[in-house]
Amino acid sequence: MIEKDQMSLLKTESKRTQTPEPFDILKQKLGQDLKEMVSLAPYTTFRIGGPADYFYQARTPEKLMEAVMSAKELNINYFLLAGGSNILINDQGFRGLIIRNGCDKIEVSGEKIVAQSGAVLQDVVDSAYENSLTGFEFATGIKGSLGGAVYGNAGAFGHAVGEILSGAVLFTAAGEIKVVDRGYFDFVYRGSKLKQSGEIVLSASFQLQKGNKEEIKKKMDEIMDLRNTKHPHEEGSAGSFFKNIKSADGSKVTPAGVLLEQVGAKELKIGDAAVFYKHANIVVNLGKAQASQVLTIVRTMREKVKERFNIQLEPEVLFLDQYGLEKV
Ligand SMILES: Cc1cc2nc3c(=O)[nH]c(=O)nc-3n(C[C@H](O)[C@H](O)[C@H](O)COP(=O)(O)OP(=O)(O)OC[C@H]3O[C@@H](n4cnc5c(N)ncnc54)[C@H](O)[C@@H]3O)c2cc1C
Repeated sequence: MIEKDQMSLLKTESKRTQTPEPFDILKQKLGQDLKEMVSLAPYTTFRIGGPADYFYQARTPEKLMEAVMSAKELNINYFLLAGGSNILINDQGFRGLIIRNGCDKIEVSGEKIVAQSGAVLQDVVDSAYENSLTGFEFATGIKGSLGGAVYGNAGAFGHAVGEILSGAVLFTAAGEIKVVDRGYFDFVYRGSKLKQSGEIVLSASFQLQKGNKEEIKKKMDEIMDLRNTKHPHEEGSAGSFFKNIKSADGSKVTPAGVLLEQVGAKELKIGDAAVFYKHANIVVNLGKAQASQVLTIVRTMREKVKERFNIQLEPEVLFLDQYGLEKV
């Protein structure tokens, strides 16, 4: 018969010979900043999303690269989240590691701005203004990070980030650092090469022009006023849900909101998920909306437009399922 103290010895032994869990190895590599079962809702502007198995906020590009490489080595599924302003995260959360980009340094030198990709886009716009640099005003009020803006070629009022970007430092899928110029990105309306390549922007630079500080401020204020009239303030959202529709030759753009308005999208509401009363292309979270409710609404919006206009709306907002990005 095995005595009690022998039993406890056996237990210790079996613990010692156990192979460490991937999470433990990840923790050894990334330190105490690695968290478990973190709700993702507070990290998105929609305020929707279940928990991530693991969550790590990278505060330097080195740490960000280390997190990516560690996840790859350990075969842990990972996803880079920045401002969380262009994403709907499913209610079950994410199986794997969410790496949040917290690298946010901004440097201005002459007419050039160089910023780390986790910098808040509005902070970059404000830095341009503070240094009397013109060219970035159009991005006033666009939520999220600089990296997210480059990834999706964020834009407004006829301009986009890709037009003013002069260069960037990327971290490739193979784990290498690459310096590229604007041409590399193949920028298109709300898109760039990064959507296919999986490369991560570490920093980006912008060549701007000296301007009149008061005029820059005036432009920014006008844009903000315009946004305030049609964008939600209190409610969670991810901005426009669907892309606008370009004619085949690219000369004409039909706002998705105009079509959605005509099919009565503003009447759609399930629980706390609803189409915004001021803008038919924005879905809002009025409190405790679930991703599943938002999905039902956006699928209905798309069906209605298809039925009436024979136009297939394409989502601008990404959908993060439990193992990665999925089609809505
Ligand atoms: C109220 C409101 C208004 C908005 N208005 C506009 C608008 O006028 N114009 C517009 O274009 N958008 C608009 N948006 C959408 C959103 O702000 C932009 O798409 C923004 O650029 C997303 O950046 P993010 O950091 O939040 O990205 P996230 O939502 O965190 O991520 C989006 C995608 O980008 C990838 N990504 C993030 N950082 C990097 C990086 N460093 N390198 C590579 N990939 C990266 C992520 O992996 C993910 O796939 C609006 C959103 C809101 C909530």
